[in-house]
Amino acid sequence: MLPDYRVRQRDFLLEISRAMTAQLDLSEVLRLVLNASVVMLAGQVGLIALREPDEQYRIRATLGIDSDRLPKLNHQLDELLAAGSDHPDSEFLNIKLSQMAVSIDRRLRQSLFLPLVIAGEPVGLLIVFRAFWLEATENDLQILQSFADQAAIAVHNAQLYTRIDYERRRLAAILEYSADGVMTLDPNLVIQGFNRALERMTAWPSQDAIGRTHDEIITWKRLEKGDLRSALAHGWPFEVGEDAAADILYVEGDLLRRDGLTLSVGITYAPLLGADGRLLNIIANVRDITNFRQAQEMQNVFISTVSHELKTPVALIKGYAGTLRRDDASWDPQVIRDGLQVIEEEADRLTELIENLLAASKLRAERMELELEDVQLDQLAAEVLERFRTQSEKHQFALSFPPEFPVVRGDRARLRQVLDNLVSNAIKYSPDGGLIEIGGTTDEGVVSVYVRDQGVGIPEHEQERIFERFYRVNDSLSRRTKGTGLGLYLAKTIIEAHGGRIRVRSKPGQGAMFYFTLPLP
Ligand code: ADP
Repeated sequence: MLPDYRVRQRDFLLEISRAMTAQLDLSEVLRLVLNASVVMLAGQVGLIALREPDEQYRIRATLGIDSDRLPKLNHQLDELLAAGSDHPDSEFLNIKLSQMAVSIDRRLRQSLFLPLVIAGEPVGLLIVFRAFWLEATENDLQILQSFADQAAIAVHNAQLYTRIDYERRRLAAILEYSADGVMTLDPNLVIQGFNRALERMTAWPSQDAIGRTHDEIITWKRLEKGDLRSALAHGWPFEVGEDAAADILYVEGDLLRRDGLTLSVGITYAPLLGADGRLLNIIANVRDITNFRQAQEMQNVFISTVSHELKTPVALIKGYAGTLRRDDASWDPQVIRDGLQVIEEEADRLTELIENLLAASKLRAERMELELEDVQLDQLAAEVLERFRTQSEKHQFALSFPPEFPVVRGDRARLRQVLDNLVSNAIKYSPDGGLIEIGGTTDEGVVSVYVRDQGVGIPEHEQERIFERFYRVNDSLSRRTKGTGLGLYLAKTIIEAHGGRIRVRSKPGQGAMFYFTLPLP
């Protein structure tokens, strides 16, 4: 037969472990532990303090102590622990503890103290105060220890739970707000999680998507690379040991959204395997690759136009030079002059193209540097018009600057490049001719210069994009007209480097007016 106190101890321990498995909250378990310890040691008063993340101890459960005493007790506890680390001998601790006991209740005579430890780490402490002094027996200490162990386990569980809960919420937030679409699938490809970015990409609200299968949501207008279904049929995911990254599946194509629109995406499927190698989940990461595709396409178009642009003048120059130097023919002076003029013009075109190309590629690497000087914009405009006047018979050219147009500080060669590009565009994009006008105005600290034509104009939705590098409006005229999509990009960069802005005003069929502003000194 067990002695009576052992039976009570066992009953208490049972009650405590039941409370722990019933997942009662921590303070409830601590209260049970404290109650059991005090009763078993025939004490009157007790407390449990826990070590907080800042390593301070805070009282979390009390028995027989008024709550208004807690601030003072916490303070005493701090002193006791601080002093205790300087004087680890138990004699000193005992003195401090009896002072604490007396401050709670003058009748308390003895205190029994035990640290709560889990895996060698201190997590708190348990103190029982008694109204009589009796040498603590081995038995007392054992009883106390058994309860302290329970309390330590409960604290540890609670801490683990808090940490896991925090991790879980942190991960959920990362997924939810990720810029990429993310979904989790079970092994049967049923959707379990679906984040906001994916809602936007697919036009499926998450509550409608969750519970459906992958193939109901991910429908392809055109599949270019990879295929989840066929990969699964061929045994994906394969055994890859530790390195799960080796077995990521990549699929790319045009997604058919719920609203009927399409979106170019790349999806990576990563398997999540259990310890036994079984497939638990598939995590799909969906990326919008529209911009990437457009950039690629622009590069391709660029390369083909540039090579075309380079080839035409070179072919003309070679043709004329070859003809003129034929030994078996003697040309009259007019033919020679005409031929040389073509050669000169084509060489100019080549130079201009190469300059634009160089400037644009240099811009990628560094900020534009300006060589500032005083620039008379009306004069510069007149020079530009003079040069172009000879190049087109269909167009009339006009200058419209007020007298005494102010001088600006700027890089003359660069500003000339801007005007060259704007006027050259005005000619190119008004194939039926008309008036091309360069003019200027001044207004409170800024000058503006405009180049106006009566050509095909530019649709509203293209007006932002034409200033992008390599961008050309995709219409039949642009396709027939030579160009690289660099002119306006350069113009914009040059004007912005001067602290100005460049804009366009236009309606399709009604010509275009490009204008830029420059700050006055
Ligand atoms: P490029 O003329 O070499 O194609 P730009 O960067 O100079 O390149 O111009 C970009 C696009 O903007 C052109 O392809 C054209 O579609 C449009 N654009 C430019 N200037 C005009 C204009 N004056 N009128 C109509 N469209 C224009």
